[in-house]
Amino acid sequence: MATTELSDDQRATDVAWDLDPLVDGREAAGVETLLDDADRLAALLARSKGTVAGMDAAALASFMTAMGELEELVGRAGSYASLAYSVDTTDPAAGALLQQVEERGTAIHNQLVFFELEWAELPDKRVDELLADERLAFCRHHLRTARRYRPHLLSEPEEIVMAEKAVTGRSAWARLFDELTSAIAVDLDSQQVSLEEGLSRLAAPDREVRRRAAEAVTAGLAPGLRTRAFVYNTLLADKATDDRLRKFGSWIGSRNLANEASDESVEALVAAVRRRYDIPQRWYLLKARLLGLDRLADYDRMASVASEDATFGWSEARGLVLDSYESFSDEMADVARRFFDERWIDAPVRPGKRPGAFCAYTVPSQHPYVLLNWTARRRDVLTLAHELGHGVHAYLARPQGVFHQSTPLTLAETASVFGETVTFGRLLERTEDPNARLALLAESLEGQIATVFRQIAMNRFEDAAHTVRREDGELSTDRFAELWTDTQREMLGDTVEITDGYRTWWSYIPHFIGTPGYVYAYAYGQLLALAVYRRYETEGDAFVPRYLELLAAGGSRSPEELGSIVGVDLADPGFWDGGLEVVDRQLEAAEEAARLAGRS
Ligand SMILES: [Zn+2]
Repeated sequence: MATTELSDDQRATDVAWDLDPLVDGREAAGVETLLDDADRLAALLARSKGTVAGMDAAALASFMTAMGELEELVGRAGSYASLAYSVDTTDPAAGALLQQVEERGTAIHNQLVFFELEWAELPDKRVDELLADERLAFCRHHLRTARRYRPHLLSEPEEIVMAEKAVTGRSAWARLFDELTSAIAVDLDSQQVSLEEGLSRLAAPDREVRRRAAEAVTAGLAPGLRTRAFVYNTLLADKATDDRLRKFGSWIGSRNLANEASDESVEALVAAVRRRYDIPQRWYLLKARLLGLDRLADYDRMASVASEDATFGWSEARGLVLDSYESFSDEMADVARRFFDERWIDAPVRPGKRPGAFCAYTVPSQHPYVLLNWTARRRDVLTLAHELGHGVHAYLARPQGVFHQSTPLTLAETASVFGETVTFGRLLERTEDPNARLALLAESLEGQIATVFRQIAMNRFEDAAHTVRREDGELSTDRFAELWTDTQREMLGDTVEITDGYRTWWSYIPHFIGTPGYVYAYAYGQLLALAVYRRYETEGDAFVPRYLELLAAGGSRSPEELGSIVGVDLADPGFWDGGLEVVDRQLEAAEEAARLAGRS
């Protein structure tokens, strides 16, 4: 449906944010003033260079307070510049302002690099003494985690050599891979299209179109396959060398440390998801029936099963989302309402606006902002609920201050997925027609499978590739293909036919190359949020105050400690089952709706 056929309410025409508070209404001049102030403060703080080892708790607290003020100033300027740019990326003045803020921000931070280095030099015992002081509570976790790489650091000259050689080593290989995959051309109906466009054809309703698109993608992946395999082999070996020199016990250890996730919790997550591979398998069985097929092939998995698409006005969506938040907690609904009433949201699709949706935390002295590209679809209502979850989380954590407002990556989706799940429940409740329910559930399940199961299957591929490279040496393209199909088949069982062509489809995935080990974080964040939601379902209202306490704690503690606020133990092998049960119940509801619709 073309956007022009929609009403103003359906297009959310007037829902634009007000960025004035960030810069006291002074636009670019306000940004300049903020950065000038930050610059002066940085020069003042730089006088402490060489003195960090001698600081007592009081001196360190006042130094960190000033650092916090500096981060506030730079953060306000940066938030304004990037938010103004995101709603009009074609405006050269907005682009220039963003660039200027980045350059000046880097210059300001460069004056303060000494602190992190000197802080990392301090012996553990001294750090423990200092951090025991209550005056440092506002930056305690931040200062502690800043030192977490310490056991894995090499000597200063070694670090310099590592960093300089990485430019022409690891980074150069990763860039080569990016350039090779960007150049992949897919021949669709004698027209050359990008890989991305080729892959997007897999959602086509017509099976023949999907089959031909898959064949074209496979053909497009064939040239250069050996080169891409060589790049991956080289990076696998490079990582093995790094891990050996830095004394990491496993290939995933450095990633877990970056995520502040314990090895145990990641192992428990992977094991729990693999135990529930019946969920994607049951879904694909049902999906085959919905599509009228005996069995899906790999290229059928993205096919759309929705037979209807409801439209929502902005005011209706607003009512639905606020109702959903209210059903859980008045306090959360009150915060969410402020986003609508005080112009913290930018909703409509406009030319030049950044695609997608996000929530910007900005800084604790201000408030978060939400950007959407509202098209009045059901998916948009859930995105609104999702981004408002981030917004409420950010808002409630403001009292933690600039060092502790944001959560670690693995907890970042807690409130967003929670808000989305509550809203999804409401939406489902008021949808009676089995076909509409099926469309709603299908969309949610496909999202869960993509975020949870597919990422863990990819993690298994990565695990196998790193392990084989370390134990048996370089892998052939056949060996990669074998590991890829084995790990995919483990997830799909025999519910999906894995075609021969699919064997090379590992070879364009950028995460394996650029950010090894990263993919499990998607599953981690999603399931953690769903497990917390499951906790709410079983405990009811008694859960609410502790949940609010968790959100208000922001990133002031480790993920494990934050989890314990709501009584969950992330390393407990049973913890992850709670979130998987939520997905399981969505699947049961989909199976039921399919029966009622006479489609299974
Ligand atoms: Zn999110």
